[in-house]
Amino acid sequence: MKPTGAEWRAKEAKYFMRAGRRMPLLAVRGEGAHIWDDEGKKYLDFFGGPATISIGHSHPVMVQALMEQAQQLIHVSNQFYSIPQLQLAELLVENSCFDRVYFMNSGAEANEGALKLARKWGKEKKDGAYEVIVTENAFHGRTLQMITAGGTERYKAPFTPLPEGFVHVPFNDAEAVKRATTPRTVAVFIEPIQGEGGINVPDDTYLPALRKWCDEQDLLLIVDEVQTGCGRTGRLFAYEHWGIEPDIMTLGKGIGNGVPLSAFLAKEHAAVFVPGDHGSTYGGEPLTTRVGYEVMRYIIENDVPAQVRAKAQIVERRLASLLDRCPRVRSVRGKGLMWAIEFTSEIGERVTNAALENGLIVNNVRPNAVRLAPPLTISDEELEQGLVILEHVIEHGGAPGK
Ligand SMILES: *Cc1c(COP(=O)(O)O)cnc(C)c1O
Repeated sequence: MKPTGAEWRAKEAKYFMRAGRRMPLLAVRGEGAHIWDDEGKKYLDFFGGPATISIGHSHPVMVQALMEQAQQLIHVSNQFYSIPQLQLAELLVENSCFDRVYFMNSGAEANEGALKLARKWGKEKKDGAYEVIVTENAFHGRTLQMITAGGTERYKAPFTPLPEGFVHVPFNDAEAVKRATTPRTVAVFIEPIQGEGGINVPDDTYLPALRKWCDEQDLLLIVDEVQTGCGRTGRLFAYEHWGIEPDIMTLGKGIGNGVPLSAFLAKEHAAVFVPGDHGSTYGGEPLTTRVGYEVMRYIIENDVPAQVRAKAQIVERRLASLLDRCPRVRSVRGKGLMWAIEFTSEIGERVTNAALENGLIVNNVRPNAVRLAPPLTISDEELEQGLVILEHVIEHGGAPGK
């Protein structure tokens, strides 16, 4: 007999490191905007990964690419050329403001690569400047350097001493960046919209002001688009919303629709690596880059960003009405298909659990907030369905059941 859900959970408790918490859901299958548990119960997925699933669970385009590539060539050393890697490189560069790309496996690693570029650029072009200005509440991944760059104290405290070279300022405050700039500063490193920090959308003046300051001071502007990139905000890349061009960008999550693939891209002047400076065993291998190529081609050829903008209007309209009528809701914020609903009290977990019981997966991104990040290809009907469930759950204060 196959183990039951409870037996699998017992195995987790016995064998697995206690590094994270889990929801009571044993996922066994995914298709489009849905996943199914071991008992056949169907859930609408408004978490999407976290925000990883761009074109839907097990999209046929992706499955076919995986199968074809698996039969042809899964992996080869980066000492050799491979076609999928070069196809994806061309696609990303031709559809962004950047000149060069390098592939990695996770968001944190892409960010590491970006900061290595900045360090080297500082050494060569800015008299050894190395400090990076980062923001409070930021999330950039879980390596030692990225927890340091991030803004969450409890991710850092157990792991000191931490790498040096980061200065934190409040998000959405360009004046604070100016005050924090010294001759040691080499770069400003931000998420265009903070994701894990609770979907914090900056004022429209923020990124243009940072771009202007970086130009005046000869600093690199680095955007972490691991969450906001690949159509999530209603543009292929979020920086496009503000009409600016960063010097370096990182991608992850949605680029692979679930396979471990990430990238960092740079303008020519910031692409200072020479052979030997960086590398990765798996980064850019044929299997993952083939999937990334087909996923990104799907997003671009079907103008998924435009579809996301249309769906954002549905979300915005419904959430605005919820905010109006439900005293438990303090604010709603977001862009494209990344949204947060903030409550007047810490009911994030209760709402998340009650939604799950009602067949909807959301994420309690903060104790007092839930995040919505459904697949970008979700249908209007599915979107409305999920929002109806969520509104019902919130209006009942997160009480489980109907
Ligand atoms: C998820 C995320 C990361 C980390 O990505 P991993 O693949 O988990 O390493 C980095 N930056 C942002 C903005 C993210 O949302």
